[in-house]
Amino acid sequence: MTVEHRVLLGIGVSAGTAHGAIAVVSPAPTVDPNEPKTTDVEAATETVSQALESVSDMLYERAENASEKAQEILKATAKMAHDRGLKKAIVNELKGGAGITRAITDAVQKYVDMFIKLGGYMAERATDLYDVRDRTIAVVRGLPMPGIPQLTEPSIIVARDLAPAETATLDPDFALGIAIAEGGPTSHTAILAAQLGIPAAVRVGQILELAGPAQEQGAKIAIDGGVGEVIIAPSDEDIALLKERSERREAALADSHGIGLTYDGHKIALLANIGTAEDAQRAAEYDVEGAGLFRTEFLFMGRESAPSVAEQTEVYTQVFRAFGDRRVTVRTLDAGADKPLKFADLGEEENPALGRRGIRLTRIREDLMDAQLEALAAAQKATGADVRVMAPMIATTEEAKWFADKAHAAGLTSVGVMIEVPAAAINAATILSHVDFASIGTNDLAQYTMAADRMQGELASLLDVWQPAVLRMIRKACQGGTATGKYVGVCGEAGGDPLLALVLTGLGVQSLSMAPPKVGAVRVSLKLHDLSTCQQMAAYALDAPTAKDARAAVEALVHPDVKFLM
Ligand code: PEP
Ligand code: MG
Repeated sequence: MTVEHRVLLGIGVSAGTAHGAIAVVSPAPTVDPNEPKTTDVEAATETVSQALESVSDMLYERAENASEKAQEILKATAKMAHDRGLKKAIVNELKGGAGITRAITDAVQKYVDMFIKLGGYMAERATDLYDVRDRTIAVVRGLPMPGIPQLTEPSIIVARDLAPAETATLDPDFALGIAIAEGGPTSHTAILAAQLGIPAAVRVGQILELAGPAQEQGAKIAIDGGVGEVIIAPSDEDIALLKERSERREAALADSHGIGLTYDGHKIALLANIGTAEDAQRAAEYDVEGAGLFRTEFLFMGRESAPSVAEQTEVYTQVFRAFGDRRVTVRTLDAGADKPLKFADLGEEENPALGRRGIRLTRIREDLMDAQLEALAAAQKATGADVRVMAPMIATTEEAKWFADKAHAAGLTSVGVMIEVPAAAINAATILSHVDFASIGTNDLAQYTMAADRMQGELASLLDVWQPAVLRMIRKACQGGTATGKYVGVCGEAGGDPLLALVLTGLGVQSLSMAPPKVGAVRVSLKLHDLSTCQQMAAYALDAPTAKDARAAVEALVHPDVKFLM
């Protein structure tokens, strides 16, 4: 039977085209709701033993062909499947009469709870244990293995959504593209895919329903991560067209180098968003003027205790060294809400995104802020680097002042704030009078202006930076910069969009920070337009009644070559 040719449209979040095999990520299986209670403990024990054995074999086999980093993870997990204590705990549950998948689930949970109490390295094994649980249940229930399947040929990953850890371990040699059913343009998957330069689209409706059966029949899939197009069973013409688009894009980007300039020479600094020391190494290879956003929370996440001052100093030193004499803008710890920290848990909150996150958390846990500033100052001193620090989630002048005083006391000289809360945008002039610069976080600014959770993919149209209300917030922040003579940049995802970059420039933004693979297209787009055109685009977009109209008004003024950059 031939697979039906289907073209699906999602939201493009990482430009580039690719085609390959379909690799559907299966969800984790749950307890079998229909399983009987265990009466024959011996037989049930045998089933569990065999399932654990086959999980362990599978993982070792996969480790053999994996990258060094993935190998370590896979072997550690395979070892877990062999753990005698775990098996004993499952058998105990079986003896109590629990059905097989219920016994596995409950025993693993008890084991995890015990590990967490032990803390440190043991607690970090919780993820491995859950992985063993899911795989073992999949074997017992005869369901497909959960998680990213082993890729043996160039493939496009298709999933409901991907965890940041899953995205980060993708092997770019085999994972040629990502098509996500849910997620949103500012979700972590989208940010990481762009960071890795893997073509990706989110909110691709129906992709899961269609890709599973198509995969079973060996069909191929193609993606254009610029426009968000995904084609199941692409024809030869489709592939030729994508190839042509890709070649045109490459040709358009071929001459992209040097500092960011509009056609008439107005300067816009082009900077990289980074999250780790490895990112810094990669990003420093790009033609960028430095880092405009170093998301330091990656160093704190998934840990039982905060990294020490010495450990932080070491990482910050590596990052600063990678950029040499180019600027590095460090954002202090932005934890809470979608980035929880075990060691800084302030208790349950009804609305974590509106709760004690970002600067609100570090004002309560001042020790975390002090240690981080101390480490940043030490790394700055050791390297002599151009370091700028900024705090996330600033809403009031007091918060800005509190942070500036602390950063200065630690010996840091260039101090700024993120503008991502509408209160800070509205009050930008007053806030900026206490600091040296501001960077607009368009991801959160859109979330809070539109009262739309950025984790909620269904709200993508409200989270759109083209929403005139969001653009007006950005303008307000820029006006604050003009009034005080202070520098205002953008470091949210909007900065990496070749079209929005023009509007942001027209609104008065002085730098754009983005995933490094996006810099080339933004540089070319700027070069094709003069400042007065950008200003006109901004004026039209601000006055448009809807996000769609705003985009259409700008598209009417745009240079025709910009379409080759998407
Ligand atoms: C933002 O909110 O736009 C931003 C850059 O920060 P993050 O995406 O890390 O919240
Ligand atoms: Mg933010």
